[in-house]
Amino acid sequence: DNKKWENVIGMLEDVIQLLQPQAKLKNIKLKYDCPNNEQIYCDRSQIKQVLINVVKNAIEAMSERGIVELNVHSNHQHVEIHIRDEGPGIPEEILHKLGEPFFTTKKDGTGLGIMITKQIMEAHGGYLEIKQNEPKGSTFNLVFPKIEHN
Ligand code: ADP
Ligand code: MG
Repeated sequence: DNKKWENVIGMLEDVIQLLQPQAKLKNIKLKYDCPNNEQIYCDRSQIKQVLINVVKNAIEAMSERGIVELNVHSNHQHVEIHIRDEGPGIPEEILHKLGEPFFTTKKDGTGLGIMITKQIMEAHGGYLEIKQNEPKGSTFNLVFPKIEHN
């Protein structure tokens, strides 16, 4: 187990920097909004992998132009990272298949990203929530339990 207290904003910035070139090719802006002091108790490289998987999917879901937004919210029970895209959204009939190993709708997809994401979230006592946006797009919510910071 490699969990430590990690600054959420630092992980977001690392991942955005990493995926910036891919986003720029499609004229997609990566934006984030996160309180400076927000921390989660996690394995930094695993949570970065989760963020890479979800943000990459968001970029891949969108055609030219648009915004992928990462927003961090917290309350007494949870810290949540919301990743919102302006893609086509996910059809009802395939929603339940997301996260099944090797389920992909992409020509060169592996269909492993969401499965790994769910596994890592569970290993952190959290979960992945998928929502549809109005009028279009999806939001992937990474929900972490709030743990006392000693
Ligand atoms: P891959 O990206 O290799 O296809 P994933 O497990 O990351 O595998 O995603 C599985 C499938 O879920 C994708 O092929 C796509 O159909 C769907 N999906 C994932 N994220 C999004 C998104 N943001 N918008 C629309 N569909 C998505
Ligand atoms: Mg993927």
